[in-house]
Amino acid sequence: MVIEKNYTGLYIHVPFCIKKCSYCSFYSIERDEVLLTRFRSALLAEMERKTAGINIGTVYSGGGTPTILPPEFWKKFLSILDEIADTSGVLERTIETNPGAVLSDNLAEFRKAGFNRLSIGIQSFDSSELKTLGRIHSPDQAIITFNQARDTGFPNIGIDLIYGIPGQTPDTWQSNLEKAIELLPEHISCYELSIENGTPIADLINKGELSKSSEEHCRKMYFLADELLKEAGYIHYEVSNYARGNENISRHNSSYWNRTPYIGLGPSAHSFDGKKTRSWNVCEIDGYLNLIENYKSPVEETEELDSQEIALEMLMLGLRWQAGVDIEEIEVRTGFRINEQYLDCMVRSGRVQVSGSRILPTTEGMLFADGDAANLIL
Ligand code: SF4
Repeated sequence: MVIEKNYTGLYIHVPFCIKKCSYCSFYSIERDEVLLTRFRSALLAEMERKTAGINIGTVYSGGGTPTILPPEFWKKFLSILDEIADTSGVLERTIETNPGAVLSDNLAEFRKAGFNRLSIGIQSFDSSELKTLGRIHSPDQAIITFNQARDTGFPNIGIDLIYGIPGQTPDTWQSNLEKAIELLPEHISCYELSIENGTPIADLINKGELSKSSEEHCRKMYFLADELLKEAGYIHYEVSNYARGNENISRHNSSYWNRTPYIGLGPSAHSFDGKKTRSWNVCEIDGYLNLIENYKSPVEETEELDSQEIALEMLMLGLRWQAGVDIEEIEVRTGFRINEQYLDCMVRSGRVQVSGSRILPTTEGMLFADGDAANLIL
């Protein structure tokens, strides 16, 4: 597995969607032309302030639905970025989209604007599951969007799927996985549905109108994805992520897991210096726009991680992905030592393997990353 750390990732958060999904707890709002116009100028201004002279290795535009902004805007954004930052070694430029939120002609224009990777939020190929999730698209639209993306020449397409949807069974999940495999995407993310308080789906569960998937079902679905996707030639390189070959591992997301620096633009976007300082922008669009328009910093808060927090973070992130974590590196960087007794117990129970100074999680072990990380620190 390739682990690059000598660049900075750039994340751009576009908080607009056509309609709010019933499970969504991200900061996103329904599209509004006046706000969109102000937002475009604000993003360019924030990018110019934060990226001048920086060696950018990956660009990832997420949301929300970034394809709500027109391809001409992205063309301008990426060309200004090329002028002011060092983008000579950029590895990937990803844009997220959702079926039903982009026209086929536009997909070609996004490719021409400079994106070489498309991430499509398909979530499910089952119409009743899509309805439960409050998605705006149908299974057919998902397949059409994928095929159009392929036809327009995107060399790297990722799709997102969700398991643990109320009403979903391991059988319907299997059928989702089979449909995903038929499309041959370079990358597949399988996320367990997280039910967040205050979302419409949580309200329906609380009222007894929908039933949450059981832990046992979710566990079964996690292992089913591991089995079917590996059989189809995918590498399970992170707890929720599969790539068709090492070359298709998401470079940008890998930055988060190996603690590469990243800069976040847009409301609620986070930045990290690769060492111990993390900051995040204000969440609300109005506050973000007002700050940028008044030449003020949109950063809401900055935190400095102490050595224990850094050690814990290195372990939590490392135990979630195939590359694992280097215990010598943790000791050198933070002074914290590993609880050897607890590590032995993890090895004996099949959650990790140890190779030299690296702890490598198994498929089972990736599910226990957070708890194991906390117990590993002496
Ligand atoms: S498309 Fe994504 S970001 Fe937008 S509302 Fe749905 S889940 Fe949230």
